[in-house]
Amino acid sequence: MSGDLTLLSIFEMQAGLRAGDFSCTELLEAHLQRIHDLEPRIHAFITLVEESARKEAKNADFRFSAAQNNGQIDDLPALLGIPIAVKDLITVKDLRCSCGSNVLGEWIAPFTATAIQRLLDAGAIIVGKTNTDEFAMGSSTETSAFGPTFNPWDTSRVPGGSSGGSAAAVAARMVPVAIGSDTGGSIRQPAAFCGVTGIKPSYGRISRYGLVAYGSSLDSMGAFTHSGAEAALLLGIMAGLDKMDATSADHPVPNYHKEITCDIKRLRIGVPREYFIDGIQSEIKTTIKTAIETYRSLGAEIVEISLPHTKYALPVYYLIAPAEASANLARYDGIRFGTRQSTGSMIDMFFETRGQGFGPEVKRRIMLGTYALSAGYYDAYYGQAQKVRTLIKQDFEKAFDKVDVIACPVTPTTAFKVGEHGDDPLAMYLEDVFTLPANLAGVPGIAFPVGLDLENLPIGMQLMGKRFNEKTLFQAVHSFQQNTKFHLQKPLL
Ligand code: GLN
Repeated sequence: MSGDLTLLSIFEMQAGLRAGDFSCTELLEAHLQRIHDLEPRIHAFITLVEESARKEAKNADFRFSAAQNNGQIDDLPALLGIPIAVKDLITVKDLRCSCGSNVLGEWIAPFTATAIQRLLDAGAIIVGKTNTDEFAMGSSTETSAFGPTFNPWDTSRVPGGSSGGSAAAVAARMVPVAIGSDTGGSIRQPAAFCGVTGIKPSYGRISRYGLVAYGSSLDSMGAFTHSGAEAALLLGIMAGLDKMDATSADHPVPNYHKEITCDIKRLRIGVPREYFIDGIQSEIKTTIKTAIETYRSLGAEIVEISLPHTKYALPVYYLIAPAEASANLARYDGIRFGTRQSTGSMIDMFFETRGQGFGPEVKRRIMLGTYALSAGYYDAYYGQAQKVRTLIKQDFEKAFDKVDVIACPVTPTTAFKVGEHGDDPLAMYLEDVFTLPANLAGVPGIAFPVGLDLENLPIGMQLMGKRFNEKTLFQAVHSFQQNTKFHLQKPLL
């Protein structure tokens, strides 16, 4: 088949493979070529597994021809032959899992994350593990021990983070789908910066088994794609109860993709006044307002709402997430995982392994979290933060009595320059003001492109939904994307 296979949607890939227009091997090679051409400028990957991917593609081709011969093409799994990338914070058996950290270094994962196994069972082919801020702590992919990823729209800028490698890989068409994780915005913010669609589902919707823990009460796995319809297909495969994760929800998983069309005229969209504050880049404000008007013109009802505790989300998050992180990261002690530095006693080993293994941002989080949890401070910081978290959750519950989805910006600015927030952690933390609340409340959020700023950088809009109502988010994004072309815009690379 002529034409660039990397420009196809997943649905077009599925159809082309089934029609025999091209093979899984050709599809994979097109993506590997793209990776070879662009990786020196983008650095989306920490590990590439081209040879195993080629083997898988050959197997998939064999399954296609066997099915074609006996008329069982419709029985093949949905993602057979589709190349994917996985954030290097998620385990895949026998592949290195670094979490972007020297403390894990060459650690090889002994098992595959449940959600990734479901993708593999559906026929997806892993081409590599993508770059991430160290242990997912960051908003730019710059805290990775492997060096930063660069934004395909402007390689002097960051792709966002922490799942910046995954977002950049999809934006640059190195893969049609990449998996990421989101504790406070790490899927939605890089999706916005890179002009792709990113879904962070409800807490518990996708098993966390195999997702290396950052903030265990906040972490969600999710996906980057080019459209809401593709994201719907992915979530339908990844979601659902898992006996390996007691916090995974026993809640029915709809066929998101089949139910993607809705009557937008019955959709009530809430616009929270607390999300349109001073300090947001002016083009973001106007572009989001235009996108909301598009929804109005499609027949949706637009309702002004209030989420009064929004301003506390940032301080609450930066107590709870580091507190949970400080506990989770205690396991990297040189004994059980990854690298070991040791010149003396066992205590020396702990000091040396952790002192040399963790980067400065991770150390900052461990100190913040340990302080917030220590005797005498626990009630004043961690305890108080938990109470305010409940108020934030209640804001959402009240809002969702009145509206079906909430529309707002994803980020206060478009992609910033590499190094711009280098010595200012607070400026970096402020990048997540609009994404943290969804994690604190456990509700789903989706980011998708709605325009470009004056420097040709993507602007994303976020829709948040009721807990476990990802379906309405996909429907709302799909109807927008059926009527607009922003999701089809491409970086000029
Ligand atoms: N930037 C936020 C942080 O550093 C969120 C990261 C994430 O979602 N993993 O904590």
